[in-house]
Amino acid sequence: MTFNDLGIIPAVLKALSKENYTAPTPIQEQAIPAVLAGRDLLGCAQTGTGKTAAFAVPIIQLLSEQQSRPITQRRIRSLILTPTRELALQISENIQAYSQYTHLRCSAIVGGVSQKAQERSLNQGADIIIATPGRLIDLMNQKRIDLQYVQILVLDEADRMLDMGFIHDVKKIILKMPSKKQTLFFSATMPPEIAKMVKSLLVNPVKVEI
Ligand code: AMP
Repeated sequence: MTFNDLGIIPAVLKALSKENYTAPTPIQEQAIPAVLAGRDLLGCAQTGTGKTAAFAVPIIQLLSEQQSRPITQRRIRSLILTPTRELALQISENIQAYSQYTHLRCSAIVGGVSQKAQERSLNQGADIIIATPGRLIDLMNQKRIDLQYVQILVLDEADRMLDMGFIHDVKKIILKMPSKKQTLFFSATMPPEIAKMVKSLLVNPVKVEI
């Protein structure tokens, strides 16, 4: 199996080959076609399995196939929520690499650093945001972030977000997005609270377990 067999567009294939990714990992083989087909996804995969590209590559492809808007009129079309700053920055770096031959822009919105640089990045137009819940809520409260055009939501390491006490924030964020959207949900474990969220958020999801 190659990335080409999965129906990936040339701009993304070129970036993957520059990263020296020769073949998709098992989770990528399962997840990429499902996400490209518009399906919701429930993934029980650990970091290290190629999980990031499994959701990032099809998101980049779906968004880059839509008509591009001028920078000042860009809308956030995908939100990736993660529990930690380190994870958010890692995902953001990966997305920048995979999308380098497209017109898409992404921004990392994380706590612990000055908000100014993040505001500047948002002002330059962001199609994809990778965020930790606290800083995202700050910027939403300041009306600097509008989630009403989000089409694809990723909840990464949902069980860790629960452990870290972010679930209330996550639910608050989800309420600011359209209810009609594609949701990709990743969690290594399924405690009752997470199972409840899965049930309320996902519609007929494709299940991917590694
Ligand atoms: P992740 O599970 O997303 O954190 O990825 C783990 C590591 O594998 C990262 O360093 C990725 O750059 C790398 N990786 C992801 N997919 C592939 C692939 N198809 N071929 C080679 N390396 C990959």
